[in-house]
Amino acid sequence: MTEKPVKVTGGCLCGEVRFEARAFLHSGYYCHCKQCQKSSGAPAEIGIPVLAGSLRFIKGEPKYYLSSEIGQRGFCADCGSRLVWRFRDPENDNGTNLSVCSLDNPEDAKPNAHTFVDSQLPWYNLADELPRLRSEDDSDFLESFPGKQTDP
Ligand SMILES: [Zn+2]
Ligand SMILES: [Zn+2]
Repeated sequence: MTEKPVKVTGGCLCGEVRFEARAFLHSGYYCHCKQCQKSSGAPAEIGIPVLAGSLRFIKGEPKYYLSSEIGQRGFCADCGSRLVWRFRDPENDNGTNLSVCSLDNPEDAKPNAHTFVDSQLPWYNLADELPRLRSEDDSDFLESFPGKQTDP
């Protein structure tokens, strides 16, 4: 991956939580996993990878809950907006990603893949030519996760 992370800002719907980060806007991906479906109430969530160590909350803090064996999700405790996914291990910041529409300018983002398409809902059709990865492909996907890059 050669994409350079760019500065982004964003926050929740009510404005109590605000963040800034350096994100890989063109490495976003539709995630069709069950946890993303359930936690967002939508057929898929679009995650935007952030550079490890770059996410900083400038107003408020999200509340986190454990959402799977490996991950935790952060949301605004006041309005419920879903904001961030990260590994449970606080030392592991590789893989942290933001919900695309928590960004102030989500129109600048560009998803480049679909993940966990084995749980994609049959009526949710996206007419694009992006790669479609099943859950068993996920380790390779995580291997190539751009957030793993170190800051140049
Ligand atoms: Zn809020
Ligand atoms: Zn997911």
